[in-house]
Amino acid sequence: MCRRFYRAGWPFATVDAADTCRFAPYSLVWNNTDQLDTWGQNMKQSSIVRRSRNLAGHISTVLIALLLADLVAAEPGTQGEIPAGYDRQKEGQGLLFLWREAETDESTAETAIEVGNVIFNGIAKFLGRDRVPSKKLVVVLDGSMFANGTRRIPRVDAQGRVLLYTTSAPMNQYMSVFAHELVHAIRYQNHLAGDASAVLGTGFFEEGFAEAVALQVEGHSDRYPYWGYSPAAINAHLIEEDLAIPLERLINEHAALSLKCELQSYPLRGSFLTYLHSLMGHESFLLLSDARSRKDTSFYEKRLAKPFAELVSDWRDHVLAQAEHIPDAEQQALDWLALNQQFGFKLCEKGADF
Ligand SMILES: [Zn+2]
Repeated sequence: MCRRFYRAGWPFATVDAADTCRFAPYSLVWNNTDQLDTWGQNMKQSSIVRRSRNLAGHISTVLIALLLADLVAAEPGTQGEIPAGYDRQKEGQGLLFLWREAETDESTAETAIEVGNVIFNGIAKFLGRDRVPSKKLVVVLDGSMFANGTRRIPRVDAQGRVLLYTTSAPMNQYMSVFAHELVHAIRYQNHLAGDASAVLGTGFFEEGFAEAVALQVEGHSDRYPYWGYSPAAINAHLIEEDLAIPLERLINEHAALSLKCELQSYPLRGSFLTYLHSLMGHESFLLLSDARSRKDTSFYEKRLAKPFAELVSDWRDHVLAQAEHIPDAEQQALDWLALNQQFGFKLCEKGADF
């Protein structure tokens, strides 16, 4: 379970004799800047970054100059205006990153940009290039997630720009929800083009789709809200402990339940849409995401040719069967919950909250 963290040089996870992941307390992590620096340096040496640097070393400077000239000539502008007030900016492939020097140090921004570019390419590959906007997407690294005692929620704004806030390293700084938000931003072009049905970031389908794509592209690694723990183990725990909010309620009461019950709504929606992906196959799943009709329960019934209750029942069986193949599934779910409680998240309770 902790192996991936060790490979990345994660300084805050240890394994005890029973092979259980232990995380340092949140307060300790905030204060331990030496470890943060070491971790940041290790991350920069990750294999993906190393490979791309080695490759770059083999391309002649003439070719690089030609490529750059081509990029500049083909500059298609950005989705949404470039906001004022940011003194640093850097272009990635398909992305334009902005930040303030006083808020975000160079190495944090560089790490976010390197990881961000890999994620962008992964999503573009998953969706197909014709579903990705030709204009560059603006990504704002907008300072701390916690300001004046409130939590600022990463989101896509009214112009289709991604606003990200930073946390300490165990919560993956700027990148904890980037893949998810980037899917929203990529699909926002439909909304900007006047498609009134594409009300993004406000419905069960959009949230589940963004989460399912993020899981395909980035896995459940050091991302919100999984933090390396198996989504199947987490969802099986929610189902078995009667903590799984009925999907029909998550669809019909999205505004009331989505953020209030985020520890349940994000994994459950992501799992259900991931199940539909495996059930339908890749192309049909993408066509489902293109559909412009209102996505209530009848939408799924028509497309999958099954009563919604039956579809949900099949999905639950699928999740429970997946978890049976994970020897420490229950322990993972409990550790996952304990870690999220350290981070200040909590589960909604049946009867009281839903
Ligand atoms: Zn979302």
